[in-house]
Amino acid sequence: MLPALRVSPPPGLNVHLLDAVVVGAGGAGLYAALELKKELGPKAKVGVISKLYPSRSHTGAAQGGVCAALGNTEEDHWEWHWFDTVKGGDYLVDQDAAEVMCRDAVETIINLEHLGMPFNRTPEGLIDQRRFGGHTRNYGEGPVRRSCFAADRTGHAILHTLYQQCIRHEVTFFDEFQVLDLLMPGGAQGPVTGVLALELATTEVHTFRAPGVLFATGGFGKMFKVTSNAHTLTGDGVAIPYRSRTWSSSSSTRPACTDSGSCCRRRCGARADSWSTIAASVSWSAMPRP
Ligand SMILES: Cc1cc2nc3c(=O)[nH]c(=O)nc-3n(C[C@H](O)[C@H](O)[C@H](O)COP(=O)(O)OP(=O)(O)OC[C@H]3O[C@@H](n4cnc5c(N)ncnc54)[C@H](O)[C@@H]3O)c2cc1C
Repeated sequence: MLPALRVSPPPGLNVHLLDAVVVGAGGAGLYAALELKKELGPKAKVGVISKLYPSRSHTGAAQGGVCAALGNTEEDHWEWHWFDTVKGGDYLVDQDAAEVMCRDAVETIINLEHLGMPFNRTPEGLIDQRRFGGHTRNYGEGPVRRSCFAADRTGHAILHTLYQQCIRHEVTFFDEFQVLDLLMPGGAQGPVTGVLALELATTEVHTFRAPGVLFATGGFGKMFKVTSNAHTLTGDGVAIPYRSRTWSSSSSTRPACTDSGSCCRRRCGARADSWSTIAASVSWSAMPRP
């Protein structure tokens, strides 16, 4: 593991000046980039850095659906979804974060629909919902139809919908750049002023400077010998803020995603404070565990 970078790299070479940096171009990162554009304005330079081409992010593997208590096909409530999420996580789940996720899931799905997501429909034209592992009605009484889906390629459809919207709103992409570390010229107690990344095609090092940095780098299933996760899910994106002791657990900066530590928002100086209001939540359900 690399030591945390405590100094700024030499100025001059491959420096990108941005208003916001999002690390990760899966469902969480792309959604966050769109929200940042909304929050900071159309002229804001929002950069998304990804070690993969965005549409190859692991979100594309999700088939079964994305859950929200819309109640389109039978009665459902976000509180039931919340219960299932906490119980499905063996009560190890951050319950406040789960509450945010389950409440916001409804609005997030409707927002995704408005962005052009091709959900399956009921005969009445509503977003269709089907059963999925761990989704129950009335706190565990029986199964409920909570999963919103686009045939068997829900994640693929989410990625493409969000990517197209990002292009439309002029988010800047840095594809196949592996983020290595945070820029923290003031040391561990100082603000994060950007990130350092390796351009995989050229092996050149780039610095990305911005007043705010958001990590949405997915899970780390590859820590297990047997996993359905892609080879890229090594957890390096989670390790970077953790190693730099910038991992925050304050309620206003808590991750809004249940994927293992995939979305770490942090106060990075004054301007980033307003970011804490940004709903960067991609409401993935708690998956049945292996
Ligand atoms: C087989 C399978 C099926 C699934 N099915 C479902 C389902 O039906 N419903 C459901 O809700 N969930 C499902 N999940 C879980 C779901 O896919 C994930 O929880 C979700 O996609 C995570 O999204 P994400 O944006 O956080 O991460 P990802 O989509 O994994 O994106 C991570 C991004 O971070 C980037 N990145 C990582 N590290 C770095 C770095 N150091 N530098 C630069 N970029 C970096 C990657 O390039 C990538 O763009 C499934 C998971 C698997 C494995």
